[in-house]
Amino acid sequence: MNVFFPALRDGSSAPALRFGDRTLSYRQLAAVAVPLAERLGGRTRVAVWATPTLETSVAVVAALLAGVPAIPVNPKIGASELAHIVADSSPDLVLTEPGAVLPDTLAALPRLDVRTATAEQASLQEADGRGIAESGLTDGPERTPESGASAPPKVPVLPHEPGDEAPALIVYTSGTTGPPKGVVLPRRAVTHTLDALEDAWQWTADDVLVHALPLFHVHGLILGVLGPLRRGGSLHHLGRFTAEGVTRGLSDGGTMLFGVPTMYHRLAMEVDDDPALAAALGAARLLVSGSAALPLTDHERITAACGRRVIERYGMSETLMNTSVRADGPPATGSVGVPLPGVYLRLVDEAGQDVAGSDGETVGEIQVRGPNLFVEYLNRPDATAEAFDGGWFRTGDVAVRDAEGNYRIVGRKATDLIKSGGYKIGAGEIENALLAHPAVAEAAVTGEPDDDLGERIVAWVVMAPDAARPSADELSDHVARQLAPHKRPRTVHFLNALPRNDMGKVLKRQLGT
Ligand code: ATP
Ligand code: MG
Repeated sequence: MNVFFPALRDGSSAPALRFGDRTLSYRQLAAVAVPLAERLGGRTRVAVWATPTLETSVAVVAALLAGVPAIPVNPKIGASELAHIVADSSPDLVLTEPGAVLPDTLAALPRLDVRTATAEQASLQEADGRGIAESGLTDGPERTPESGASAPPKVPVLPHEPGDEAPALIVYTSGTTGPPKGVVLPRRAVTHTLDALEDAWQWTADDVLVHALPLFHVHGLILGVLGPLRRGGSLHHLGRFTAEGVTRGLSDGGTMLFGVPTMYHRLAMEVDDDPALAAALGAARLLVSGSAALPLTDHERITAACGRRVIERYGMSETLMNTSVRADGPPATGSVGVPLPGVYLRLVDEAGQDVAGSDGETVGEIQVRGPNLFVEYLNRPDATAEAFDGGWFRTGDVAVRDAEGNYRIVGRKATDLIKSGGYKIGAGEIENALLAHPAVAEAAVTGEPDDDLGERIVAWVVMAPDAARPSADELSDHVARQLAPHKRPRTVHFLNALPRNDMGKVLKRQLGT
């Protein structure tokens, strides 16, 4: 059996979780998570009100130890989406930080406040003289048992861990293309992905992850919290993403940064005028972007300012991580790198046949096979059946593959592959071309039905602050000059902001409606 967190069992005094000025060592984490896990026994599923806090991390660790599937819930979610998630997943308990104000749907469920639950237990242990000095969830530095008492440190005994196929988490997809789907992730998928990333990123117990992502999603929770804990390293969560926080985190021992493209875009906009940020990014061991495509202009700005490359990885809720640019490999900028160890990818055409070769040009839908895959969409046997082609999962993403085996994501089949005038055109390359114009800060490209062309290319553009607005023709010409005449946007709309979800992903289905 696969012990999920070896460092937790070993009970070391090395730091595990840091949120603001509150830090838990592995021993303190065990001291609070193990008793909480014991209290979860007998529950079928627990919802976790996933604020970006220490409590959320402890709750998820406890649920994993107890073998009770955890459902991380986005605390900013709208009422109807929340009602859908609660009805769909039927949790029998909700775990929260203290004082969290819950919407009615969740408030109706039994509730356990993580800090109170663990503080009770920790003080009991202290009264027993059995070791744990105080609840690790209180503020301030660690008081280790050795410091005053003569009693040897005691690592709480972990409950029996369930098998690899047991469901670990039910994570809802980002809802970028439709209502979020509950993805049932077995423990095997989580450990496989984290161990594959250990290899690809040479991730060790010495790494300190600087983290500012939300904790209700695969990226921030599985990679960002469970990743460092599985390695025996640590994370430092900034609470809120700011360039100043990233500088502080990386200057204060941070070795890695994980972010979504909107975060790297902000860093790219600020790094030229912020030497401390440039120095901090330049000193980081690894800068990783994922969840959506990072525009080439942002890659280039960051590299020019700090000398480091951002590497991209590609994954989804259903498959966890599929590919990554390797820390020890060529930079492969603009691609999402090569398949992770144990993961198989193929590109298929519309008839479901393998597209031949690796010419960097032939587009196909990515299908994935491997131990990183989910089990099913909760309560949606039809959607689950439709999502598979034999043992291959249909990602809905289209890509090309080059001779070195790197994949470059063209976009989503449904929204980013525009069929115009007999050509298949990826929205992403047109977006990159628009972003190369100095007056453009954000860009999204869609296809609209057209009697002559089949689909017509439409650009949605947000201007850079203080930039003079170019004409629609100037922007279209700018694209046609860089790419090819048939990739010229026929219509350009100027917007104040692009519609985005909580992961910063552009909601293309809201454009034009
Ligand atoms: P929904 O499935 O509800 O529509 P979603 O697909 O955005 O939402 P996630 O599972 O969070 O939900 O996101 C996975 C998707 O994110 C992938 O299918 C892919 O389209 C996109 N993605 C992830 N990483 C990258 C990347 N590095 N480059 C481009 N796209 C990426
Ligand atoms: Mg999806």
